Amino acid sequence: MFLPRRFIELSAKLGSLPGIGPKAADRLVFYLLDQSEEDIRALADALVAAKREIHFCTRCGNFAQGNLCEICQDLSRDGGLLCVVEEIRDLAAIEKTGVYRGLYHVLHGRIDPIARVGPEELGLNRLANRIRTDGVHEVIIATNPNFNGDITAMYIAKLLSELNVRVTRIATGIPKGSELEFADVFTLTQALEKRTDVQG
Ligand SMILES: [Zn+2]
Repeated sequence: MFLPRRFIELSAKLGSLPGIGPKAADRLVFYLLDQSEEDIRALADALVAAKREIHFCTRCGNFAQGNLCEICQDLSRDGGLLCVVEEIRDLAAIEKTGVYRGLYHVLHGRIDPIARVGPEELGLNRLANRIRTDGVHEVIIATNPNFNGDITAMYIAKLLSELNVRVTRIATGIPKGSELEFADVFTLTQALEKRTDVQG
C-alpha cells in the first residue's frame, strides 16, 4: 500500500457515511488534504458544534438549537393544524412544497410489529396530550403509504377518535409502498391538498 495509514483511516471514516463509496471517500481525502489547516479546523469545529448544539424540539421533535425549533417559534404558522410524520426528513419534504403552514409532530419511527415497536415506544400519548392542550383542530397524518405507515395511521386515528379533532390523511397520490421523502413537490402538494377524513 502506497498510502499512509492516516489517509486510509480517514478514507474509511468518510466511506462509512451514507452515499459515499470507497472511491468517493478517497477523492474527498485528496480534496481535504489540499485545503489549509484553518479550513480543515473550521470543518471539524462545525461538525462538533452541530452535534453538540442541535437537539430535538421539545414540542414537535424537529431539529432545534434551543428548546423550540424554528417552525414552532414561527408565530405566523397555524397552531391549530398538526401534521404527523415519521421522520424529520419527511417534515423536510413537506416544507419543500411551501404550501403547508401548520405545525408538526415527528414520531421518530412508526409502529412496526416485527421490530416490536408499539404505540408506547412511539410516545403516542404525547401526541394525544398535545392535541388536548394546544388547541389543535385538525391532525393530518402523513405517515408513509406502506404497511407500517398504514397501521401507524390507523392507530393514531383510533387514538384521536375520542378527542374533539378532525383527523385526515394525505391522499394516496404518493404511490403505494413508496416513501414520502422521495415524492416530488407537485405530488406531495396534491397529496396534502386532497387529504381525506379518517375514521378511528
Ligand atoms: Zn418544533
